[in-house]
Amino acid sequence: MKCVICKGDDIRLKEVKEELFNGGDVVFITIEVPVCQTCGERYYDRRTMLKLEEAAQRLRDRELETREIGRVLEAV
Ligand SMILES: [Zn+2]
Repeated sequence: MKCVICKGDDIRLKEVKEELFNGGDVVFITIEVPVCQTCGERYYDRRTMLKLEEAAQRLRDRELETREIGRVLEAV
């Protein structure tokens, strides 16, 4: 598999943190996706997208267990 962005061929499965947004909250979820080692492009297959959508839904339904690791702030 070649990277569509940089044409590099060093693509490996990596654990990455994706952000889910829920109201004012940001929730990180760790998933494993193929990542181009040259340019950092991430490749999401349908299964991964479904997993993220499912996690977002569980978050909205308050079924996803989370812990607070920091705060999200806005400059005023
Ligand atoms: Zn690349």
